Amino acid sequence: MAKTIKKIGVMTSGGDSPGMNAAIRSVVRACAYHNIECYGIYRGYEGMIEGDFIKMNARSVKGIINKGGTILKSARSKEFRTKEGRVKAHEQLIKAGIDAFVVVGGDGSFTGAMIFNQEFNFPVMGIPGTIDNDIFGTTHTLGYDTALNTVVEVIDKIRDTASSHNRLFFVEVMGRDVGHIALNVGIGAGAEEILIPEEDLGLDRLLESLRRSKQSGKSSSIVVVAEGDKIGKSVFELKDYVEENMTEYEVRVSVLGHLQRGGAPSCFDRVLASRMGVKAVECLLDGQSNYMVGLKNDVIDITPFDQAVKGKSKINMELLRVSDIMSI
Ligand code: ATP
Repeated sequence: MAKTIKKIGVMTSGGDSPGMNAAIRSVVRACAYHNIECYGIYRGYEGMIEGDFIKMNARSVKGIINKGGTILKSARSKEFRTKEGRVKAHEQLIKAGIDAFVVVGGDGSFTGAMIFNQEFNFPVMGIPGTIDNDIFGTTHTLGYDTALNTVVEVIDKIRDTASSHNRLFFVEVMGRDVGHIALNVGIGAGAEEILIPEEDLGLDRLLESLRRSKQSGKSSSIVVVAEGDKIGKSVFELKDYVEENMTEYEVRVSVLGHLQRGGAPSCFDRVLASRMGVKAVECLLDGQSNYMVGLKNDVIDITPFDQAVKGKSKINMELLRVSDIMSI
């Protein structure tokens, strides 16, 4: 029979994302609701190895639902990738009497949790927290919706300058493996072209499309480029290429970088985090382990870690067609 869970740890791991604090709050309060003790684990697996824990109660998480980043800090731990590191982490958890943990992070953090579960039969649950939305088993990761809103707002501002000076702007957004952010903000901010990792538009077609835009009377253009776009050129190389071949355009580049990861979470991310935290705690109390919670058809569901880690998050192909039609 599974051991009764009396103390649950919660931590944030990998890159931070808006909504992580709301998820910590939800786990802590769900524990309080079920009369379970809750411990915050600082700095992800690094803090776990060092036993850097803090006892939390419902009041320890007041005033954080609206805050970006993570009050528990986040880190990447090389030591946890080794068996010795994980043995130390396990010893620390046992010493503190922690029976299970919830990790808020990306697929790397889930891989670590899955290995830990296999080695020590230790109950674990995951909450997907990353702005890229690149995790299988959920239509939305925590922070993704906030990032979309942040980026659209910034591109709106860039467009003011682009249209005042008849310029073409390449705006690079996050998304190494999947183009969710680029595709959605591209449509939302009315970009003329969207370059994503899933589709190779090709340089000739890019030029053709920009020429068409110009001929159709557009005086400025925005091209949204995902970090991992298939053309395989850096956004600065793209700028040079277009300038060489289309002298009628004055081209500028804007790399949005880390500003996309910060800021107060959107209402959607706060609600999602609250739902996910409750589900993660209640799964552990029901004896379930080794799952990631996720949103599917507006229901909070669970996906085994191995599927979440191996599966591929796919873009919505309908959006590609809509974006083509909108950029006429
Ligand atoms: P992001 O999406 O922001 O990159 P992530 O959770 O994927 O988040 P990673 O740096 O890949 O971020 O993983 C976070 C931590 O999880 C690592 O620093 C490491 O401690 C642990 N981890 C990742 N992969 C493994 C693994 N194969 N074995 C053990 N631990 C791992």
